[in-house]
Parts: sequence; C-alpha cells; structure tokens
Amino acid sequence: MVREGGAGRGRDEGIAYGNGKRGTDKSKLIIVPSVYIKTYGCQMNERDSEAVAAQLAARGYSLAASEGAADVILLNTCSVRDMAERKAIGKMQSLAAKVRRQRPKVVLGVLGCMAQSRGARLLEQLPDVDLVIGTQKFHRTADYLEEILAGKRDRIVDVEAEAGSEGTIKEHWPPGHGGAGGAAARPVTAFVSIMQGCNQYCTFCIVPYTRGEERSRTIADIVAECRQLVEGGVREITLLGQIVTSYGKREIPARNGKSGFVQLLEAVHEVEGLERIRFTSPHPKGYGDDLVEAYGRLPKLCESAHLPAQSGSDRILKLMHRGCTRERFLGVVEKLRRVQPRMGITTDIIVGFPGETEEDFEETLALAREVEFDNGYLFKYSPRQDTPAAALPGQVPQDVKEERNARLLALVNEISGRRYGERVGERMEVLVEGPSRRNAARQMGRTRCNRIVVFEGGKDRRGELVELKIERAGSFTLYGILNSK
Ligand code: SAM
Repeated sequence: MVREGGAGRGRDEGIAYGNGKRGTDKSKLIIVPSVYIKTYGCQMNERDSEAVAAQLAARGYSLAASEGAADVILLNTCSVRDMAERKAIGKMQSLAAKVRRQRPKVVLGVLGCMAQSRGARLLEQLPDVDLVIGTQKFHRTADYLEEILAGKRDRIVDVEAEAGSEGTIKEHWPPGHGGAGGAAARPVTAFVSIMQGCNQYCTFCIVPYTRGEERSRTIADIVAECRQLVEGGVREITLLGQIVTSYGKREIPARNGKSGFVQLLEAVHEVEGLERIRFTSPHPKGYGDDLVEAYGRLPKLCESAHLPAQSGSDRILKLMHRGCTRERFLGVVEKLRRVQPRMGITTDIIVGFPGETEEDFEETLALAREVEFDNGYLFKYSPRQDTPAAALPGQVPQDVKEERNARLLALVNEISGRRYGERVGERMEVLVEGPSRRNAARQMGRTRCNRIVVFEGGKDRRGELVELKIERAGSFTLYGILNSK
C-alpha cells in the first residue's frame, strides 16, 4: 500500500500509481497499487498465486485484470519443462521492452520455480526485474513489494529455504473463499496445499530442486482451512502436493495401519458441509491398501485418481527412478477399480525419455490400451539442467518425440472419447460450479469421477448437487439434462 506523499518509486512525483484505486481511510488519502499475476504451470503454482493475490489484497492492493493496468506485474513461473521457462522469460522480456518503457515505475517480479532454480542469475538475463522470490518465500511478497515501492531497496532476491514455509500457503482469493466476500464471487471448489517439496528424485524432474525436501502441514491446520472454506461456500476440496501420498511420512506416525495421508483424509472427511474430496498428484506406489480401502468407506472421497504412469516400459521406469514397475502400476489400477468400478483414472506420460526405443514406446501404448485412461497429459521429455536424465546417453531426437507424442495422443483421445460415450444414458451426480465458460446460459459442473458436464440449469445452481441424465458426449465434455426420469 502506498500513501500519498509517501516514499518510494512515487516519491519524486508524490504519487506514481496512476492505475491504483483511490480510497479514503478516515482522514488519509490512500493510493492502492494494482497487481497483475500471471501463472505458468501446475495447480500448485495456481494455488501459490492465489495465496499471493490474497496476501496482496489484504494489504490493500487491487487485482488488475490485465498487465496494461497494473503497477506491479508478477510472473509465477514453472521449471518443469524448458518451454514453460522460455515462455516466462519471453514474457518478462516483452514486459521490460513495452510496459517498462511506457511506465518506468512499474515493478516487475519473478516468483516460483524458475526464480528458485536460477536465483540472482535470472537478473543477468532479465536486468529489468526488481523482485525474485523463490518457492519458500511467497508469503514475503507483500513485505518485499512494500520495501521496493517505498524506495528502501531497489531490488530483492530471496530464494533461501525457510523452515515452516509449507504452512504459509493458506489464504484464498476471492475472499468469499472462507469468509467475507460476496456470494456471486464464491467458488464452489478449492485447492488446499497440504505439503511442499518432493523426495522422489525422478531422474527427469527438477521439482525436488525447486521445491525442496518434503514438508507437511499439520492435520489440524489443514482441517481448519478446509472448515473455513466450507463456511465460505466451498463444497469440494482438492488436496494438493507434489506427491500427496507421501503426506506426513516423516511427521505423522502410522496409526492402525493407516498412513498420515489416510489419517488426513479421514479428518477432512469429518468437515461438516463438505461434499467432496479429491487429491493430486499422488504417486502410484503410494496406493497402499489403507488408501485403496478408504475409497470404499469414505463417501466424500470421489472416485477419481490421477496416476502418473510416465512410461509403460520397466526398463525406462527404472532409468526414471520411478520406484514403480508396470506390474505394480497395473495392480494399483486393478485394486482401485475393484473397490470403485466407476473410478475415473487419468495419467501423466513422458515420451522420448533418453534411451526410449520403439519397443519401450510400444509398451507405453500397450499400457494405455490396457488401462483405458479417461484422460492423459502427455509430455515430450525436456532435459532439465542438473537432473541426472539430462546427462544420460541416447537423447531422443525431437522429431521422434513429436511422432510418438502424436501417436499416443491419438490413442488416448480415442479411448477417452469411447469412455465418455459409454456414459450416455447414465444418471450422474454433478456438483454445479457455475455458468459454462462457452455459453453462460448453461451451467457447468463435474461428476464424481471428474468429468465436466454442461446442462441447461434454468437458474444459477452454483453449489448444488444435482442428478443429470447424460444425453450426449463431446470430447472431454458430457451434456446432460436435469430431473429427467
Ligand atoms: N510430482 C508429480 C509426479 O511426478 O507424480 C507431478 C509433477 S509435474 C508438475 C507434472 C508432470 O510433468 C509429471 O508427472 C511429468 O509427466 C511431467 N514432467 C516432469 N518433468 C518433466 C520433464 N523433464 N520433461 C517432460 N515432462 C516432465
């Protein structure tokens, strides 16, 4: 927050934040800078950005709808693939060239995974950046901006580890999420970050280096956040972590054969008014019998599982250091479908990992055929600096990666189209999330197995659990009608 006549980038002119909103706070005239946050990457990054937005809003910032109207522009970055890093760097270079030229006082910041992995080196490539904040420092964003805006410091880089930082991603935006906001803004679903970091050290993955060692929040803290969200109108919560099934491994002893993660699921399940629980991403090897049987006895736990397979070839899985064989993966799928035959199963697969032969790739195709995934997120292997796989022999040429990706995509789409088609004629419970993005006259929601359904709602049914009859299936969307017998 910048006060009139205050210090900082606005000091010379008094006030420099033309896009900020003016508001009176008793006798003081307050200038509120506006901030625009652009997020790259996964749901964890989205969640981190949301927490930063809530933190800044609590300090009086307004959230700008576009960079053109913002006094502070923050890019929350992803390092998982080279393309994500290049996009963020290109974006920052264009902001420096265009926005900075027109509005020299605008503050530019890079947050998250790429900030963490590159630290101060990022400034050599992006000299216009004022703020670099690593993955354990999101909660310091407002303080650091205040220092920069007040002219106390020109530039801040903080990518240090911070004990307890796993417990700092808990504020939600918009504020209807757990408190004060208006009903219209209230989302029905929310993500809750339950842990940070990853100890798996897959040879392709940069995450352990950008997010650090696994650290889990306490069950009590997570449950309190879930309760607050439900009081604000949330009906469905997705528990988030890099590998959620490792939740509490070091902190929470197993009890009656139940892991810390299953104990957490049970505790969240007790939250009154909460209708549905999901989680992502698990590791297939984290599906012990305690978790599998939880699907059979915890009615709020939705029958959908995102199971990153990465490859169907045991040889490649070993090179990836996945700690899971094809047989074990198939065993998990089988156990889950035994407990919940309607289980929706999605996956992540990497094509073109170093050394992947045509035979290895055929095994991945065969795995996709055997499991019949409801959907798959396919990635072309991208070498990441300082990860073991980047130095492996047998790097696969880009054209081969492209070709394998196209073949696998065609197969995954064909299977998922068929599985969607099989739902036509069924009745399904749908949690309504609000108007459809493509056609606001229609309502949109999700089935328990995480399929999107669009229907004519007649009125705003946000937050309602409705039963729909599925009339037709499009690619990745079902179309239903309400109350039809
Ligand atoms: N931690 C989760 C796991 O490994 O089970 C997923 C985290 S990551 C954000 C999401 C996906 O990105 C991974 O499942 C993997 O398929 C993909 N990925 C990670 N590193 C990659 C790389 N170097 N090249 C291509 N894809 C990659």
